[in-house]
Amino acid sequence: MRFKTLSQFRRTEPLKRVLGNLPQTISMAAYAKAKAFKISELVRHTFKESYEWYGFTLADPAHPEFIIDIGLPENNMNLRDYTTIGAMRIAEFHESLPEDRIINGWIHSHGALNYKHFSPTDEKNNRTVLDFVAAGTRTPLAKIEIPIQDLVLLEKDRFAEKDLAKGSVSVITDKPITEAKILETVYGSFCYSIIIGDKGWHIHKIYYRERGALSGHTSETSITADIKFVDTRRTLNSEEIQTLGKEVKEKIRPNLNPPPELIERM
Ligand SMILES: [Zn+2]
Repeated sequence: MRFKTLSQFRRTEPLKRVLGNLPQTISMAAYAKAKAFKISELVRHTFKESYEWYGFTLADPAHPEFIIDIGLPENNMNLRDYTTIGAMRIAEFHESLPEDRIINGWIHSHGALNYKHFSPTDEKNNRTVLDFVAAGTRTPLAKIEIPIQDLVLLEKDRFAEKDLAKGSVSVITDKPITEAKILETVYGSFCYSIIIGDKGWHIHKIYYRERGALSGHTSETSITADIKFVDTRRTLNSEEIQTLGKEVKEKIRPNLNPPPELIERM
């Protein structure tokens, strides 16, 4: 066989159409921010010392990218410098939510520590939360052609058993065709992660997962994201603060003598 030029073999660019985007910055209601710092304050007030706590960031399912509230689940164990999160706890909390609320991430406090980083434990927790919230924040991102070498086109009721053995992918159609492109939808999900400190600081990341509907090709990335606080005209009133105080007493569990194997920093 003789080849004329190399350009003969250059593949044409796969067909691609953008269908949507994932948030690149975090938007959060000022109300939710106030609530988060209020929880830290109530923890200090209730237990006379600063402890880490974690909660979930909540959104309306119609606007999964916008944090409108903070939900406080039963915290497994709260230490001065450690907080842990489990899939069971997320599921439990998710069940307790009204239908018009979804979890779009999580928030935790580093208490009085000035540790403004995501610790290895945090990164592990981020993955657990992303696994859980991916379905709720899922959106179609693109339709992309899957280049298939050796695509075999067959006509319904008119092919032989041995024809199915040919090629890498077979498409059976009701009318004879000679050419076909296969395109898959790539879905994207995200999850927010916010850390706050008693002194008023906050750091944030967004975790992404993309998955091809047909190929199953999955990729995960994360970015350090800016946060934008939005005034929704909702303020934390004294009644809500009282209820929050009760929640803190019930759900935060300081453990002053943890087993050593559980002492993992941040
Ligand atoms: Zn942390």
